[in-house]
Amino acid sequence: MSLIVQKFGGSSVANADRLRNVADIITKTYSQNNDVVVVVSAQGDTTDDLIAKAKEVNPRPSKREMDMLLTAGEQMSASLLAMTIEQMGFPVVSLLGWQAGFLTDTSYGSARIKRVTPDRIKKELDKRNIVIVTGFQGINRYNDMTTLGRGGSDTSAVAIAAVMHADLCQIYTDVEGVYTADPRKIKNAKKIDVISYDEMLELATLGAQVLNNRSVEMAKKYNIELEVLSSYNRVPGTIVKEATKMEKMLISGIAKDDGVARVAIIGVPDRPGLAFKVFSKLSAKNVNVDIILQSIGRNGTKDISFTVSEDHLQATMEVLTPYVEQIGASSVVYDEDVAKVSIVGAGMETHPGVAALMFEALFESNINIQMISTSEIKISVLIERKDADKAVAAIHNKFFPEVVDQ
Ligand code: ASP
Ligand code: MG
Repeated sequence: MSLIVQKFGGSSVANADRLRNVADIITKTYSQNNDVVVVVSAQGDTTDDLIAKAKEVNPRPSKREMDMLLTAGEQMSASLLAMTIEQMGFPVVSLLGWQAGFLTDTSYGSARIKRVTPDRIKKELDKRNIVIVTGFQGINRYNDMTTLGRGGSDTSAVAIAAVMHADLCQIYTDVEGVYTADPRKIKNAKKIDVISYDEMLELATLGAQVLNNRSVEMAKKYNIELEVLSSYNRVPGTIVKEATKMEKMLISGIAKDDGVARVAIIGVPDRPGLAFKVFSKLSAKNVNVDIILQSIGRNGTKDISFTVSEDHLQATMEVLTPYVEQIGASSVVYDEDVAKVSIVGAGMETHPGVAALMFEALFESNINIQMISTSEIKISVLIERKDADKAVAAIHNKFFPEVVDQ
């Protein structure tokens, strides 16, 4: 007998029909003589709707009360799914995060899992129950409800798979897996069969919206193989696993992030310590800086440019505007009209010329590169925002020409 963890996202459990469809997947798995633990998200847009309701009565509700409210969404979908399965004549029980043993820290709204003690889950499995667990939630040391941050149900599922040494962790969603580019925009985008944790982590962080990045981090840490697949079409999905076991693709995928801004400090005195000062000021305000570019010093000054996420732009400008004068720089300016386009692939470590191919695609589309950054498995460029979709398409055609007009 195998233990299988199955996670279903909000659209997969959105209404009675979708619940019956999911119940069918679960009971089939159970009937093949498996133990099944199911993790659910809130139905459809429930979490967004609950946030909107909160704002109607209080524009700045406390995080504790927000978590008290938001955890209700998963409680509803878990019980409704259990009732659907009951109706089909199978033994089932639904559990809240705390009943399933999820202990978290006290950061309401973005809590981290400290420990999962799955005694109750085990007891229920021993009774041959299908166990449904609310995703996205736990309890802290004050016995208060906490949530794990948006999209946190993926992490709940991986955590259960890790502590229970599950044989398989399936993440069911509304697309058929992870794609080489956003399939809604790039019609030749193709499903990736296998991808490594590191590549998936880059893609998840860069904005491919299929898996929450913390869940990928956890899967990597505990070496839990994930399968991302559709609850609509029963076809094989994408396997996420350790890199050594697979053939390395030149690149796995292309991601676009248009939630970025470029900041430039102009006329910075060309002497030691200034980059240190600027970036420690920013990190003290929890601003994450991404691509950094420093010009060569000329006439005793240089320019330092970097990118931040758009949410951090205001904080960045608030910190730097008064500060530039103090350090003897002339000004700080920003540009929000930019986007970051990245290619990710474990194969680029061993194949020269990947960057050149990417730049050639951009050149052929007459797209100017403002900044470049690279890591072992990623190349990112910063370009004008209006060019972003065109850039992704051009790069995709360059690296995946064989699937054109398929
Ligand atoms: N329901 C939560 C959200 O919408 C958690 C999740 O879906 O994973 O963010
Ligand atoms: Mg959701």
